[in-house]
Amino acid sequence: MTGQDKGASLHPETRLVHAGTLRSQFGETSEALFLTQGHVYDSAEQCEARFLNKDPGFQYARFSNPTVTMLEQRMAAFEGAEACRATATGMAAVTAAVMGLVRAGDHVVAAQALFGSCRYVVEEHLPRYGVASTLVNGPDIEAWRKAVRPNTKVFFLESPSNPTLEVIDIAAVAAIAKEVGARLIVDNVFATPLFQRPLELGADIVVYSATKHIDGQGRCLGGLLLASEELIQTEIQTYLRQTGPAMSPFNAWVMLKALETLPLRVQRQAQSATIIADWLAGQEKLSKVIFPGHKDHPQAATIAKQMSGPSTLIAFEVAGGKDAAFRLLNAMKLIRISNNLGDAKSLIVHPATTTHQRFTPEVRASMGVTDGMIRLSIGLEHPDDLIADIRTALAAV
Ligand SMILES: *Cc1c(COP(=O)(O)O)cnc(C)c1O
Repeated sequence: MTGQDKGASLHPETRLVHAGTLRSQFGETSEALFLTQGHVYDSAEQCEARFLNKDPGFQYARFSNPTVTMLEQRMAAFEGAEACRATATGMAAVTAAVMGLVRAGDHVVAAQALFGSCRYVVEEHLPRYGVASTLVNGPDIEAWRKAVRPNTKVFFLESPSNPTLEVIDIAAVAAIAKEVGARLIVDNVFATPLFQRPLELGADIVVYSATKHIDGQGRCLGGLLLASEELIQTEIQTYLRQTGPAMSPFNAWVMLKALETLPLRVQRQAQSATIIADWLAGQEKLSKVIFPGHKDHPQAATIAKQMSGPSTLIAFEVAGGKDAAFRLLNAMKLIRISNNLGDAKSLIVHPATTTHQRFTPEVRASMGVTDGMIRLSIGLEHPDDLIADIRTALAAV
């Protein structure tokens, strides 16, 4: 097997096509799908050496697999990270990052505006193991500092957040984390690796749900965790290897091939999202439109500083609450109701009754998830067709 060059001198698009390729003795053009649980050894001695990490190579797909390794190396090269590990889902990556870094008695500070499952991990799962957490208003930088305790070990945030597209100053939060000896984990799903680079802004770990833009065609679940080699080796590797949230080689192959087209897809989707967000901003029936590309976004200054593009997602609010929101969703023809995002197909969802339905109305309000709020994920269709669909549906509200 050859070709482990990370290609640091090459442009990101080039790295996404070539980096990490492990070519077999057959010289295949396209990356091979190694659908194998395990590997055979030439001798018992070689087997022993491999388990001692003295012989390079693969052992068992819970630890690593050639196709999964290709995905990890390609993603690390793109993100500019020393190391990457793939997991079965985005939530497995989030959970491994958090659980790897904490011990009983530790404390975590997290932004309150989080994807429902991320908030569950921080708020309900961690306390079971004696890890306390404090949720703060993420854009309020002083709130992070005030929440710090002597035992604070982890800061966790999502930016832009799901679904309210709230943006947090990553460099400012990273600086506080460094000062107090905590590590910052950033869930970068909504920005995509194309538009925001948390490691360069000072984050210690970046996590992705590869289910979203990285697959981008609604097929497979997956997660990715990126950090320094040292952090992965000391805090993450053993947790992953022994608890087993491994990505399947088939899913890794789908994601690996999908990375080749990630910039093309995300750029086009963000362009369309910009056109549609501009159009939505002029609609009378909407009480609010939140889009990271708009000057009236509450954190526009932070966006200008840390993001190189907007988002493929738009959040907006219909006057008239849940009833009006449901009427709008039900009147859509082309844009389908689904809680997935980042797909080639445009998808729409009502967060208050789906991704955020577990929370009390008060908690939802604190996260900005109102009854009239709608999350729209823009796909690869022509924006004119999408606008026509929304226009017809809005007439039904
Ligand atoms: C979807 C999502 C996740 C979870 O990813 P899965 O692949 O569904 O487990 C985590 N964070 C954010 C921001 C998401 O949108």
